Amino acid sequence: MSGVQEIPSALRLTIDLAALVENWRFMALRSRPARTSAVVKANGYGLGIAPVVRALYQAGCRDFFTATAQEGVAARAEAPQARIFVLNGLYPGLEVTLSAAGLIPVLASLEQVHSWRDHCAVAGSLPFALQVDTGMNRLGVSPAEACALAAEGRCQSRFSPELIMSHLACADEPSHALNAKQLQSFQTVMEGFAEIESSLCNSAGIFLGRSYVGDLTRPGIALYGGDCVEGVANPMKPVASAKARILQLRRVPHGGCVSYGATPLARDSVIATAAVGYADGYLRSLSGAAIPLRRLSGERPVGHLAGRHVPIFGRITMDLTMFDVTDVGPDVAVGDFIELFGHQLPLDTVARAAGTIGYEILTSLGDRYARQYIEN
Ligand SMILES: *Cc1c(COP(=O)(O)O)cnc(C)c1O
Repeated sequence: MSGVQEIPSALRLTIDLAALVENWRFMALRSRPARTSAVVKANGYGLGIAPVVRALYQAGCRDFFTATAQEGVAARAEAPQARIFVLNGLYPGLEVTLSAAGLIPVLASLEQVHSWRDHCAVAGSLPFALQVDTGMNRLGVSPAEACALAAEGRCQSRFSPELIMSHLACADEPSHALNAKQLQSFQTVMEGFAEIESSLCNSAGIFLGRSYVGDLTRPGIALYGGDCVEGVANPMKPVASAKARILQLRRVPHGGCVSYGATPLARDSVIATAAVGYADGYLRSLSGAAIPLRRLSGERPVGHLAGRHVPIFGRITMDLTMFDVTDVGPDVAVGDFIELFGHQLPLDTVARAAGTIGYEILTSLGDRYARQYIEN
């Protein structure tokens, strides 16, 4: 056995699987009458694909989306009876993996459709989904190509998609005109596929209302507690909470300076050095005002300790971050853990301070965290 588990960690990530399941049920309620899948790409948004799929499968989720075939195989191990869709589609050499693990490719071009058809001619009839690009210009056949395939499909009922899907570019901005345009384009395509399941909504799309939900929704970030719609209070339960141990405390007099680039202190200060850095996805762009990028965002970059927010001071380094804990007074000691995000400090507040989104914070976490999963 490896001894890794026994090495006490100075960096902790707690993942609340009960909150994850609660979030999935909440999104399932919002998705009605559609079925609700779970998007578990990028290692379950950084939180661990195996425990995430296991918990959601136990809760009754029977449809999962991964980005890659590798992720699909990992999901299959935890969800024997589920449909697992692979969003990134098909490329040469993938056919065998997909059919062996019973994964459903989301085909994104006519070439991919033809390759899968050729594969099925040999391997027997296998399911596939079809992605239609309705305005994002990322992946998918055009609406015209989809309609042509629909016309063809009428004569070839043995090769027909299991699911038709598209993806919204601006669902997080409910008033954006592209939402309705994409919906209309998608509905037009669906007229050619009357008997086939449709799927259009990511987390934010589900909040656009009934006309958008189709037959199957695809929430990702909301399941993990992230904010998905701009300008409204986030209704989701926090799932992940990250904490770093204080390795050292030091008194630095006014005029002293901190970290690379020597950010000067404007008062006598107590500086806590914590065991987290940009190698742990604690993005360097969170560094105080010490690097120019920070000035783009109005949010103050902070951690949370002993009931109050503590500012990050100076540049974040690869493995270490300094916090100004002067105002915490005697309530701080070496060995205390500073919350980086979680219950006291929402993920998205931290993301905004870093000039990014919760998705990027979660998927950047890295593997130095001691991960603890809470089941109930
Ligand atoms: C990532 C992704 C989703 C999930 O999006 P969230 O914003 O995380 O809910 C759904 N559909 C597709 C095609 C995706 O790429």
